[in-house]
Amino acid sequence: MKNIAVIGAGTMGNGIAHVFAQSGYNVNLIDLSQDALEKAFVTITKNLDRQLAKEKITAENKEDTLARITLHTNMAAGIEGADLVVEAATENTSLKLKIFKQLDELADSDTILATNTSSISITQIAAVTNRPDKVIGMHFMNPVPVMKLVEIIRGYSTSDEVTASIMSLSKSLKKSPVEVNDYPGFIANRILMPMINEAICSLHEGVAGVEEIDTVMKLGMAHPMGPLQLADFIGLDVCLAILEVLQDGFGNPKYAPCPLLVNMVTAGKKGVKSGEGFYNWSHGTKELIVSDKFKK
Ligand code: NAD
Repeated sequence: MKNIAVIGAGTMGNGIAHVFAQSGYNVNLIDLSQDALEKAFVTITKNLDRQLAKEKITAENKEDTLARITLHTNMAAGIEGADLVVEAATENTSLKLKIFKQLDELADSDTILATNTSSISITQIAAVTNRPDKVIGMHFMNPVPVMKLVEIIRGYSTSDEVTASIMSLSKSLKKSPVEVNDYPGFIANRILMPMINEAICSLHEGVAGVEEIDTVMKLGMAHPMGPLQLADFIGLDVCLAILEVLQDGFGNPKYAPCPLLVNMVTAGKKGVKSGEGFYNWSHGTKELIVSDKFKK
């Protein structure tokens, strides 16, 4: 594989484009929004500058990486000649089904179609294509250039050959792929999201404040950051969408999203990407919000 198309230039898409380009692949980054593409390019440049300052890469590596990335607003042009498409658009089932129908029509018949979905069924996505054996989950972690894990999710019909090829491709990105089967939330979010939801419910019920909850989990469980800060990084809208998939998929009320999370997403408080979530991020750093609005 040499040519990779990445669909969606948001939080995850820019990181996925970064690691593929840095490992020598040609990347076409595709988004509906020119603004999102330009922001993604700026983010990739900043992240490469950080790697350069830490002497993890050379100035030449940085320039070569940027030169391998091309930006597109037109999907047909962007996926032309792609050996692999990695979809990282918004976490919404009907949107992903629409994108995969389009991809199946437009991409070469041997192109592998991967999705970075956090929780949506790979089997359901594969079923709208005529190549369900070539559809697979490739779940990168945030921030993609830093995190080693890629959860590789086999849909019901994903072939052994495609799975082996995506496992080996992930290793070529210096990542550690782990193979799992296709059930709601896979492994990462089936375990992570109930923890984040419980942290939000504890806050809502007034058991403790934002800082206290995050400190308990950081110092008590040796987590690198607390669950509320992590939720802000992931995006509260993404957390809500994943919990809804878990709730629908298992039919178990234990996955019901905390009403505070629903309220915050409705109010546009999505975490780092919107400037405010459990913390205020609007000045570029983490600031505690002193307020009673999180309580019931
Ligand atoms: P985001 O909201 O930051 O970005 C989504 C991007 O997709 C936006 O730029 C939007 O313009 C674009 N988009 C929407 N429809 C499109 C279309 N039809 N064609 C092209 N582009 C389109 O979302 P994100 O956090 O980057 O999440 C993307 C995917 O990655 C989701 O499936 C999410 O569940 C998954 N994911 C997210 C995280 C995380 O921490 N945020 C971690 C792992 C996986």
